[in-house]
Amino acid sequence: MTARDLSRAAGVPEKEVCDHLVHIRRSMRTGRSAFSMTPPECLACGYVYADRRRLTRPGRCPRCKSTHLTPPSFRIDG
Ligand SMILES: [Zn+2]
Repeated sequence: MTARDLSRAAGVPEKEVCDHLVHIRRSMRTGRSAFSMTPPECLACGYVYADRRRLTRPGRCPRCKSTHLTPPSFRIDG
């Protein structure tokens, strides 16, 4: 789910969702479940934010400066 999906499902503002996800990711490290993020991707040039650790949506592509980016999405396995 994206931050927007989670915002809608949980009734929490989208900008607060990322704060919650930071805590969820931290607590997942000690449990059996795994938190994973599908990184944002630039729709203009295909750049993928493969090493990104931040959970927020980036403002613009570092390669082509486009702002047409897919938002990161999140899942929990286990
Ligand atoms: Zn780009």
